[in-house]
Amino acid sequence: MSEKVKTVCPYCGVGCGLEVMPSGDDQTKSIGKVMGDRTHPSSLGKVCVKGATVGESIKKSRLQYPLWRESLDKEFQRISWDEAFDKIINQINKVKNTIGVDGICMYGSGQFQTEDYYIAQKLFKGCLRTNNFDANSRLCMSSAVSGYVGSFGADGPPCTYTDLENTDCAFLVGTNTADCHPIVFNRVRAYHKKNDHVKMVVIDPRRTATAEAADLHLPIRPGTDIDLFNGIAHLLQKWGKIDPDFIAQYTDNFAHYQEIIKDYSPEKVAHICGIPEADLITAATYWAESNRVISLWSMGLNQSSEGTAKIRTLINLHLMTGTMGREGCGPFSLTGQPNAMGGREAGGLAHILPGYRLIHNPNHRAEVEQLWNLPENSISPEAGKTAWEAIMGLETGEVQFYWVAATNPVVSMPDLERTKKALLNSPFTVYQDAYFPTETAYYAHLVLPAAQWSEKAGTMTNSERVVTYCPRFSQPVGEGKADWEIFAEVGRRLGFEEYFAFENSAQVYDEYVSLTKNRPCDMSGLSHDLLKQAPIQWPFPEGTNPDDKYGRRLYTDLKFHTPNQKAQFIAVHSRGLAEPPNPDYPFVLTIGRLYGHWHTMTRTGRIAKINKMHPEPLLEIHPKDASQYGIESGDMVAITSLRGKGIFKALVTRAIAPRTLFIPMHWGFLWGENTEANSLSHPIACPVSKQPELKACAVNITKV
Ligand code: SF4
Repeated sequence: MSEKVKTVCPYCGVGCGLEVMPSGDDQTKSIGKVMGDRTHPSSLGKVCVKGATVGESIKKSRLQYPLWRESLDKEFQRISWDEAFDKIINQINKVKNTIGVDGICMYGSGQFQTEDYYIAQKLFKGCLRTNNFDANSRLCMSSAVSGYVGSFGADGPPCTYTDLENTDCAFLVGTNTADCHPIVFNRVRAYHKKNDHVKMVVIDPRRTATAEAADLHLPIRPGTDIDLFNGIAHLLQKWGKIDPDFIAQYTDNFAHYQEIIKDYSPEKVAHICGIPEADLITAATYWAESNRVISLWSMGLNQSSEGTAKIRTLINLHLMTGTMGREGCGPFSLTGQPNAMGGREAGGLAHILPGYRLIHNPNHRAEVEQLWNLPENSISPEAGKTAWEAIMGLETGEVQFYWVAATNPVVSMPDLERTKKALLNSPFTVYQDAYFPTETAYYAHLVLPAAQWSEKAGTMTNSERVVTYCPRFSQPVGEGKADWEIFAEVGRRLGFEEYFAFENSAQVYDEYVSLTKNRPCDMSGLSHDLLKQAPIQWPFPEGTNPDDKYGRRLYTDLKFHTPNQKAQFIAVHSRGLAEPPNPDYPFVLTIGRLYGHWHTMTRTGRIAKINKMHPEPLLEIHPKDASQYGIESGDMVAITSLRGKGIFKALVTRAIAPRTLFIPMHWGFLWGENTEANSLSHPIACPVSKQPELKACAVNITKV
């Protein structure tokens, strides 16, 4: 009889603890019952449908061994790992010797464990000397990273989930938490229901399940978040509901911000945002009258061409009211993926290095070079290509080796037709994943089987900075290897044997945490052995009492990571949507997620219960618009944008604001014809975070 195993859910950034009953022995390739782990501090035994059914998908449609084809019009042939590594090394050397190392790119994933992320950074940024490693986190939360860095001097969500249950007011902005982070939402909602004085405000153009539970729902026009935040700030200032001592002692640039917010009268803001003035005043009153305010956000703010400014203007409200660094207070980004936080810590974006260091900072580069025992100036001072810049590199021929791992860009990138054309232009694409086929596999020359959750040991960090050890408790399918092992083997075969002399992931983790010492994300006291006993929240410097595992918020001393230790106000006006509606494309299309499905359905598309819940993607349209176009629920509707076309079944509902449409992002071409949401979206990105505005584009509709 097997023992139950404690691990973490491999789906979203809530990071719920799971208890899994392995079925049979290590060789049987099956996973038994999955339950919530009552001892996990982040989820207290709760799980949603994705976590509860995760075991059902893990061993289905798996890639078994490396496959190769010379060109995309040929069939794949099975090859050995040795042959696969030879092909990778040959192409890397060819590109290095012809166009240079910046012609090599990797596109990784928030599905990686931290150990996978770390070894990829060492391989690319340290040994290959290119910063061309980016991850799908760029499409998910890079605006949250740059927002925190801009306002506080470093990344890192300051709050813990316990703050959700110790607040007076929760502002949920651009997040359908009920569907996308269900267990966080359960905590918010339960506390809100039990405590009459606690207010919940939801800001979202859709009346989602999250909005249904709120005291106040503000269905603002897409792209007007900054106007709304500046409008709330205007009222707080006018009513004298600010904290002058906090502002004077712990912040900079407030005078400039005061000048900006003078322009944001309630009449003007209500008009811009398309909401009643009285509702704006109510929202500002809730904030003004609450001693403790917490704000939560996800893609509605992050996926924007002004994502960084949106987040920083929301943080402004916390700074002007002193709702920071205390219980029940603070700006709290909800991470999309299970280990996007671990990726940020390990340097898993094209502009950062391990330990919350920045590529453009010469001291940070020098520190990492020293820790990696590399010659001076080994790390390039240039930020690498971001997710979309790599696609553009394929289009122009600047990128000639494209390595995709644990993600499915042929569904999730913006402007899919352009993405696919760029991939057709790639001389050499490696696709490393657990599942096969996927949409991206159709564009690959070399396909590598990756071990997956339950088949490799490592760690993940969730949205509240809790690190959970994920043990290996089932056998990899076929010849699958852990991602970090594949990267390390490539490093060794490139001649960097001593840099990748790891025997197991515990050794990788030990080296990784040593790079966080004395950094804002210091976790130098962590090890696999310690984490096997229980999940631990960072910061956790070497020497921390091992019993002190949980309950740390950041900035309790109000010393920020900026040069003068003060938080920074940003004073900006909104530029609005990058692609506003116009006479040819009069609707704003917003794209999002559903409760049951995960990203591009590589796992959840294989679970009968979830497919029954969400059998197809529906287009939400307001009754007024539907009637104008003669559309009824169940009719097929063609949506066009400047880039592409899709056909979706209509759902006429008042849940969506007039002149706004909603479709889910999950369906790629393997799951249905013309149902790719991202064939419509555009890649215009925030100039700071480089995160594309996947949340809004201009479209037109016709009844089919
Ligand atoms: Fe998994 Fe997220 Fe659901 Fe928790 S809320 S069980 S982490 S998908």
